[in-house]
Amino acid sequence: MTIAAAFAFVLAFQQGANTTPPSGDTTGYWQQHVHYTITATLDEPRQVVHGVADLVYVNHSPDTLREMYVQQYLNAFRPGSRWSAVDAREGRLRFQDLKDPDYGYERFTAAPTFDGTPEAAQYPGAPDSTVARFTLPHPLAPGDSMRVHFAWDARPSTEFRRQGRAGRHYDFAQWYPKVAVYDRGGWESNPFVPAGELYGEFGTYDVTLVVPDDQVIGATGVPVAGDPGWAAALRWGVLRIPRDAYGSVPPAPAVNVPAGDKAVRFYARNVHHFAWSASPDYRYEGGIYVRQLPPEHFRTWDTLSINVLYQPGDDSTWGGGRAVERTIRAFQWLEKIWGPYAWPTFTNLHRLENGGTEFPMMIMDGSAELPLILHEGGHQFTYGILADNEWRSGWMDEGLTSYQTAWAQGETPQELAAAGPPMAPRLAQGYRAFATTMTRAEERGLNLVRLDMLGHSQPIGTPAYDFRDFGTYNAMIYSRGELMYSQLRDALGDSAFRAFFHDYYTRWALKHVDERAMEGSAERASGKPLGWFFDQWVHHVGLVDYALTRAVTSQTSDGHWVTAATIERRGDYVHPMPVGVRTASGWTIGRGDYSKDVQTVEITTAGKPLEVRIDPYHTTYDWDRRDDVVGASVFGLSGAEPVFDWPFVDQANRDHSLVALSPLAWYSDPGALAVGMRARANYLGMVDRYDMGLAVESGLRAVPSGPPPRAISRVQGWWRFENPYVSAWPAPLMGLSGGVALLDGVGRVDLSQRWDLSPYWTAPGPKITATVGATGAYVYDRGMLPANWDNRPLTELHGTFGVRLPAALLADSGYSAIDAAAGVGLSSTAYGRAELSARSANYWNDGANALNLRVYGAMSNDPPAQAALHLSARDGLSTFDDNWYRPRGSVLTRPGVNYLPLGGAGLRGYDPAITIRRIVAGNGELSQRLAENVFSHVSLWGSAFADAGFASSDTYALDGAFLADAGVGVSLRGRLYDRDLTVRLDAPLVVQQPALAGGGGLTRRGATVAARWTFSFGDLW
Ligand SMILES: [Zn+2]
Repeated sequence: MTIAAAFAFVLAFQQGANTTPPSGDTTGYWQQHVHYTITATLDEPRQVVHGVADLVYVNHSPDTLREMYVQQYLNAFRPGSRWSAVDAREGRLRFQDLKDPDYGYERFTAAPTFDGTPEAAQYPGAPDSTVARFTLPHPLAPGDSMRVHFAWDARPSTEFRRQGRAGRHYDFAQWYPKVAVYDRGGWESNPFVPAGELYGEFGTYDVTLVVPDDQVIGATGVPVAGDPGWAAALRWGVLRIPRDAYGSVPPAPAVNVPAGDKAVRFYARNVHHFAWSASPDYRYEGGIYVRQLPPEHFRTWDTLSINVLYQPGDDSTWGGGRAVERTIRAFQWLEKIWGPYAWPTFTNLHRLENGGTEFPMMIMDGSAELPLILHEGGHQFTYGILADNEWRSGWMDEGLTSYQTAWAQGETPQELAAAGPPMAPRLAQGYRAFATTMTRAEERGLNLVRLDMLGHSQPIGTPAYDFRDFGTYNAMIYSRGELMYSQLRDALGDSAFRAFFHDYYTRWALKHVDERAMEGSAERASGKPLGWFFDQWVHHVGLVDYALTRAVTSQTSDGHWVTAATIERRGDYVHPMPVGVRTASGWTIGRGDYSKDVQTVEITTAGKPLEVRIDPYHTTYDWDRRDDVVGASVFGLSGAEPVFDWPFVDQANRDHSLVALSPLAWYSDPGALAVGMRARANYLGMVDRYDMGLAVESGLRAVPSGPPPRAISRVQGWWRFENPYVSAWPAPLMGLSGGVALLDGVGRVDLSQRWDLSPYWTAPGPKITATVGATGAYVYDRGMLPANWDNRPLTELHGTFGVRLPAALLADSGYSAIDAAAGVGLSSTAYGRAELSARSANYWNDGANALNLRVYGAMSNDPPAQAALHLSARDGLSTFDDNWYRPRGSVLTRPGVNYLPLGGAGLRGYDPAITIRRIVAGNGELSQRLAENVFSHVSLWGSAFADAGFASSDTYALDGAFLADAGVGVSLRGRLYDRDLTVRLDAPLVVQQPALAGGGGLTRRGATVAARWTFSFGDLW
């Protein structure tokens, strides 16, 4: 199959996965029906539930079924599962190594029967056993039903994830053979992995739990018989059990209740899952929420019983009615935006794990904070009642409940705009207070922009298991999903957006929903076609940026003002952009047409326009605010704000580029003191980064063995760029950098592209980077040339490739890495050079000890001195930008300074000037942290090192190929504000072939053992 054909097949397959008929409405919609009658006995000594279930499965589909799939979720929480494989791949250690009796499982204790015929379970994903397949003993025709009998044991794991157990506390999130959904896409059976979980058939759950007498139970459903233990555990509020909520229920199944146990029967209709939790320590608080409900096509209850179960120690966080009142507040909000809750009770309980998980009629939460109750409680509507397939469309449950949570708390762009500017932007303290930085809200708002720019985003409509990693899944499903709804609201307007919620809810309550159902409701509510919107936001990724290119204002004969604003689309995404005209009485907003790339929006105002701006309230995803006003320039620098370039601090502003200025000074022998100014510009810290410097040398004089410099060489300067945003491209060219420089008689031009090829960006997998580039360096004044720089032109193509692997699962800092670099060039003759290194860093004793090892091999063929391989130092091309090292006679190369730009083969005892033709070398260092965080996040380390190699050189007389050094050093390593910092002070006390040693000694040169020292910035590791 060709790639195009495969793609078409995938598209067709995904189309087929719709639950909504082509009508886009409920006409012709069908769903299966399940009726579970379960008896589950908690066997605490064995930490197991023994379950038996009768399932009546009704086939409402138009298809004859010949097989059935059943999910056994608990089998994920054990070694050998698909879940554990994903965890291992992404660097999480949870269930991979759990031993009996700690891991979880769900096992049939007898072959399930289908209309009385036993059938063996098949596990198509073996060794994963979260999906069981059964061949039906006879076909199940449309309209027919089948009775299935299951007997099984279920045990939660001691490692909590959604489910878990600790002591006598059990969280049974998943625990019974749950028949997979059969919808228009066929059987939706999925191996249970960290991404995606929830999809179930609606039906009736009649569950009798047999537990020790003192257990207190929270569960899906209404306790229609037996004592859940709430009365005895009551601490606050009222206890109301609506035992007759469903009127008459079928007779209870016969249950064998051992002495000391009790049977509690929970009953629920129109739910698609049953979860429960039990602990003898649970405290109970209850509330009643009574309201007048409008009639719906589904059954509703005017009185909603709220149950809260919390743990010892929760008195001041959950207790005293706190959780009950917050739960009722959440329901008041949720019913306002959606419609009436569809069930008679709701239970909010404190589970073992942090975070929260939703189940029908119940949430298991790790805290009683209002945002969490809003989120998980919101899932009663977007998951419980509007039941999407989370394996395929998590953006419909997680994204939507994230949006409604932000909405409830006034944190959507619309609510933030209505509230006006924040009272107090971030208050930076200390040294940082001098710098211009973005507010935390602005930083948060840029998280997704960054992911888009770096190419890390994936369409939110990607099936859960196809996301690159769990971190990407979360960022897309929750955050980008939330963003999508805020943009839908911006496109529809407030009243249509609210109408969309109500239409979607009323029409689809207690059904399976998909993208087509949601889009249909949004289109009905707004009266607009929205295929363009859902297609770009669900199935593509991209940025929004529109530019205001022209604004012409005129006054009409009746005294009104008309502003004609021309806007142009620059980003990938289209949007009906708001364009604002500000008058003395505030902003008047006009709207662009999403379908036009260039258009003029006319806005009429009574007052004289004072300002014209795209998206003045910042309610859209438009990331570049610099071009929201007329006059944006090609480098994005118009309107840029000049600031002082405070060392070690990143500065950025949300509305415009910053130009950070600092004075410059350096020294060279031919030019004497150079003084000037440096300007570094950026937008949002990452885009349109420019670095410009201009300096003038105070003197020009000939140096021994050189001609006098020419007057033109008095002027020194450079201009560099990184990640430019140019109009022809819909997004910044991330990773592209280059520049020109005229420094010390050398004109340099370069251009390179860097790629991050890492398979994961949130998980600790391999980090893979590659660059390709070209550099030209041409001598225009040999009277100024840096020392160790040949009077030869140089034009080089070069590339690098690096792979860095974390040392072990969960290791936060140890790694091994391989780096390769190669260049081919033309100087006076053709030349080549290649380097290969392998490194490892190993930490122990809580990171207080480190062992670093490196092997390095390199070879070169007739490069000019500036591109030559060095024994201990970086080459002249790579240190060219260092004004304190490059110039002849510079500050860092003066006698007695002993600066070493550590690099090359890393034999740090040797003179940095020594160049070599070929080398094979090894470096090792053992270090100990002497003091942690001596300032900022910088620690002091002591170390012992040794370097050795076999080398050949064309320019230096080596007395034999073997070279080696050893010594001790101290270093500062860590992070100073926004910069990584390494400063090394090394004493290479032993140097083989001491005539080649660097580092002026305190004792005579030429001795193998001598008191030499050097200092460096940066490191080999
Ligand atoms: Zn959620």
